[in-house]
Amino acid sequence: MMNVDKIREDFPILNRTVHGKPLVYFDNAATSQTPQVVIDTIVDYYSNYNANIHRGVHTLSQEATDKYEEARIKIQKHFNAKKPYEIILTSGTTHSINMVASGFASLLEKGDEIIVSALEHHSNIVPWQMLCEKTGAILQVIPMNDEGELQMNVFHQLVSTKTKLVFCNHVSNALGTINPIEEIISTAHKFGAAVLIDGAQATPHIKPDVQALDVDFYVASAHKLCGPTGVGMLYGKEEWLQKLPPYQGGGEMIETVSFQKTTYAGLPHKFEAGTPNICGGIAFGAAIDYMNSIGFEAIAEYENELLVYATAELLKIDGLKIFGTSKNKTAVISFNVGEIHPYDIGSILDKLGIAVRTGHHCAQPIMDFYKIPGTIRASFSFYNTKEEIDTLVKGVKKATMMLS
Ligand SMILES: *Cc1c(COP(=O)(O)O)cnc(C)c1O
Repeated sequence: MMNVDKIREDFPILNRTVHGKPLVYFDNAATSQTPQVVIDTIVDYYSNYNANIHRGVHTLSQEATDKYEEARIKIQKHFNAKKPYEIILTSGTTHSINMVASGFASLLEKGDEIIVSALEHHSNIVPWQMLCEKTGAILQVIPMNDEGELQMNVFHQLVSTKTKLVFCNHVSNALGTINPIEEIISTAHKFGAAVLIDGAQATPHIKPDVQALDVDFYVASAHKLCGPTGVGMLYGKEEWLQKLPPYQGGGEMIETVSFQKTTYAGLPHKFEAGTPNICGGIAFGAAIDYMNSIGFEAIAEYENELLVYATAELLKIDGLKIFGTSKNKTAVISFNVGEIHPYDIGSILDKLGIAVRTGHHCAQPIMDFYKIPGTIRASFSFYNTKEEIDTLVKGVKKATMMLS
């Protein structure tokens, strides 16, 4: 059992007020809040051993390098990667996806096919469109249904020996749907296609095992799982990371440089040009430790309780419609009330201290599917409570009365 009152004490921001009201933070799918241990890790780095890594003989540099590489191993263990160097530290999910997309530019030929899902975040659509323009590859889309689930029968028809890559998010950020990635990965592999899974929205709720999944690439951002912004990871199977060319040229990523020829460093350095977000990487490791200290099973169970409760309470409101009703979803509720614009409700909720997201959630194709401008999205975390959900429900009722 989780002791939520005690957990809330770990998050200083949860004590603040907004417009004179206690903060109710329901925008966790955009970014999570930061526990004191992670804040302390950041302060400790800049107070005690701030130095550039991997090249100094001096003590500070060695301490920083050790902590940075320890963080990589924490991330490796968490995702169950076979080798630490299969974890590339990046600036976040978007950066990780672009690294893979740009790498594939040299591996694709005209007429090759790439399959993406209709549930993607823009960061998982645009890089593939750019890649197709560059290579002449063709982009295909797995459509969604009214529940916000992928139409897997269509996927089975689309995939063929022409398919070189399949890209899908593990969990949809706009609707919370948990996608059948095991089925996607095993099917794609039968045809020799590689699979990249965007785990940005799954990793705060689920502990993925990249070896059990047999996935080729898995990406995530620290800031959605209690870590800082500006840091994330790319897991790649060793053979794929060897095959892909480096993304950026610069310091750290080379073995030898002359004007005649440069040879690249081994993994992971080949993909980590320049001075990285050292403090961020170390804090990412601390965030993973913190999440594991609570436990992902307890997190999933408690968040599901919040989801079931909030769904039932919100549906009592006249004219309220929830988008994304898959049985298999994380604690995200995307909704509208009648014809009221989501932005108007969101603004009134803010006056009541309630932080939700309104808009298209970087997933315009999903909004087009439902023929709506956007939704109000309340996304819950393990530090939220049923009392906060009651506050949200009251706030939505009040906003609806004011606006209709
Ligand atoms: C947040 C998110 C991203 C983008 O993550 P960044 O940290 O902004 O790079 C990509 N995909 C999904 C599913 C997300 O939720």
